[in-house]
Amino acid sequence: MLPPEQVVEQPTLSGYYRPITMLLACEQTHNAAGGTIWPLEQLQAVCQVAHDHGLKTHLDGARLLNAAVATNRSAADYTAPFDTVMLCLSKGLGCPIGALLAGSADDIARARTLKQQFGGSMRQAGIVAAAGLYALEHHVDRLAEDHDNAHRLAEGLADLPGFEVEMPIETNMVFVNVQRTGMTAADVAARLRQAGVGCSQPGPYRLRFVTHLDVRSEDIGRAVATARAVLG
Ligand SMILES: *Cc1c(COP(=O)(O)O)cnc(C)c1O
Repeated sequence: MLPPEQVVEQPTLSGYYRPITMLLACEQTHNAAGGTIWPLEQLQAVCQVAHDHGLKTHLDGARLLNAAVATNRSAADYTAPFDTVMLCLSKGLGCPIGALLAGSADDIARARTLKQQFGGSMRQAGIVAAAGLYALEHHVDRLAEDHDNAHRLAEGLADLPGFEVEMPIETNMVFVNVQRTGMTAADVAARLRQAGVGCSQPGPYRLRFVTHLDVRSEDIGRAVATARAVLG
């Protein structure tokens, strides 16, 4: 999450021998930073600077609604500073497939052409859209449960020997550094997977756990107990 000064400092904003910067994109929530939330004021400031320098702005809002629910703000607050916004239906919202793109009529017309050009044509997309509508109507408020579960998971995992949980937990992700266990992330993940607990390995000693629609509250205690058992 960059401060507005850093947008101005980008070398590609000046110099004929450099690539031309045309777009500023922000990711909300930020996955690699731990599912963290860009504060609204910072998004506004960063977009203002970008627009002042003639850039367009795009919100990669794959998990935008996690940010909105966690902070009790409307998604519209977070998206207002941007020219275009993308939202995933298939992450916390639980759809099998689907994403939304929002923007001006001109930008969307162009996006539709590009979608077709890149092979994104799907004539029977209505059945997919139906799942998306259901998710938007029924699965937004419940994201708060995922956030509660992530907090409880973080507390439980922090108690395990050698597990260093990255704080703060702001939404539905828990990152853990496992170097002090003496094992690699791949080793730990393999043991957990065999015992029925799934996680990914974004680094050699870093694990990522995600809570979502398919993880129930009672699964959290089971996951922690399982981790304790398989890791000794
Ligand atoms: C998953 C994800 C995407 C891609 O989403 P699709 O729904 O597969 O198009 C883009 N950005 C971020 C940050 C994501 O997590």
